[in-house]
Amino acid sequence: MNKALSLDEIIIMSDTELHKELIDPFGRRVEYVRLSVTDKCNMRCFYCIPKGFTDFEEPENWLTFDEVERLMSIFADLGVRRVRLTGGEPLVRKNLPELAARLSAIPGIEDLSLSTNASLLSEHATALKDAGISRINVSLDSLRHERFKEITGGKLQTVLDGLQAAKSAGLSPVKINVVAMKGLNDDEFESIVDYCLENDFTLRFIETMPMGSTGKDATDYYYDLQQLKKRLKKRFSLIPGMMPGGGPARYFQVEGTELRIGFITPISQHFCETCNRVRVSVNGTLYLCLGQNDKVELRPLLRDGSTDEQIRKAIVAALALKPMRHEFKDEPGQIVRIMSQTGG
Ligand code: SAM
Repeated sequence: MNKALSLDEIIIMSDTELHKELIDPFGRRVEYVRLSVTDKCNMRCFYCIPKGFTDFEEPENWLTFDEVERLMSIFADLGVRRVRLTGGEPLVRKNLPELAARLSAIPGIEDLSLSTNASLLSEHATALKDAGISRINVSLDSLRHERFKEITGGKLQTVLDGLQAAKSAGLSPVKINVVAMKGLNDDEFESIVDYCLENDFTLRFIETMPMGSTGKDATDYYYDLQQLKKRLKKRFSLIPGMMPGGGPARYFQVEGTELRIGFITPISQHFCETCNRVRVSVNGTLYLCLGQNDKVELRPLLRDGSTDEQIRKAIVAALALKPMRHEFKDEPGQIVRIMSQTGG
């Protein structure tokens, strides 16, 4: 006859059995981590990092590569299948390809991708591809040199060169991210579509989100992407399409071409009901939502001798804090941290 289990044994068993997956209180399964490897950036997009901002995380608080690898292994064990490296600008973190190789070797991680401004890609594209990065997202808000400098503080040519290097290295798909801004780049959207058509890039437009005090009120230059859809339909025949990747964009395909155009609409049509992600910042803070303040500090656990099982339980417990949705539209002032502190 089987021995009856004690209550403690049952609790321990159900903990392990039940928590093979990360399911939040709203039944959403989290299988995607956006992992910030630095909060620093070599550009200064005005909507992301305010001019003169110096409050960057101290290096001793950056998760080390060993800590990141351990943490992502625990996440993988909990069902996370996709990891995106982001920042700040991830390529300013030294030896990023080494970290990428370590993460792509973790059993369970099926998809390792990168968000970058591409300015340092010419040097690193091949090493990143060899390290297991499958695909990249690149920010590109303007194709005009002067304007690009005004918006980002960076040099457009380095980005265009980086994009060609990504193509040559075989990174695919390359997705171009354009933050749509009224009065700032809204006269360029059709030319950016043409550029993506010529280069076989996927294109996504993003509505600006109010994140931290960047010195400008995001509502002043907000561009409603529902309007852009109508506008592009005048010149291009857009048919509803799909794109692998598990992200929030709603895609259309330009008929007769391979080009897909995605619309990421956190303000005009939020997509929180399908949210499948959490974010880990460079200092090991687990953010449950980009647009809310709910968080759990994981760095202390990684440094105080906690076991993997204890960290696993902390992550599972944290998931109970995942909010139903962000409130960028109704409460635009509530997120005080800037985008690069969370990991965009
Ligand atoms: N440096 C990398 C890059 O340029 O893609 C990764 C980090 S960046 C914060 C990630 C994305 O967030 C970029 O596409 C950027 O344009 C976007 N972003 C930053 N601040 C934003 C905001 N307030 N609203 C909408 N998108 C924003």
